[in-house]
Amino acid sequence: MAYDSNNIFAKIVRGEAPAFKVYEDDHTIAFMDIMPQVEGHVLVIPKEGGETIFDISDDAAAALVKTTKKVAAAVKKVVDAPGVMLAQLNGSAAGQTVFHVHFHIIPRSGGIDLKLHAREKADFEQLKALAAKIAAAIV
Ligand code: 5GP
Repeated sequence: MAYDSNNIFAKIVRGEAPAFKVYEDDHTIAFMDIMPQVEGHVLVIPKEGGETIFDISDDAAAALVKTTKKVAAAVKKVVDAPGVMLAQLNGSAAGQTVFHVHFHIIPRSGGIDLKLHAREKADFEQLKALAAKIAAAIV
């Protein structure tokens, strides 16, 4: 399937759609998932367009992992989670629903179950406030 440059994450890269950003550099953007599976669910995308990890350059993949590591450390600290799950789905058979490659940063704590994937929108004011805290915790 050809990459659709009108997908929502490509629009976020171009500034055509809003996002609660927590981090941005020349190659990547991290922002809050609007349908979080748990508090602190953040997405990280490369600015380079590609459906899956197999469709982007090695340089873009390296930048994606570097930003994911940096932002995940801040998420872990802000929500005070003992664990962090990093997930990256390739293809609809793997559960991918937005076809611009991305990592999920999902903080995990014992006894807090994950909500269903991409189902329920969070309160935007709360997302905005959490995004600001995570942004401030990035080193
Ligand atoms: P995937 O299923 O492709 O691995 O993950 C896509 C993620 O994007 C889901 O967790 C879903 O909640 C999230 N998502 C879908 N539409 C939007 C949107 O418009 N903005 C943001 N920030 N997240 C979105």
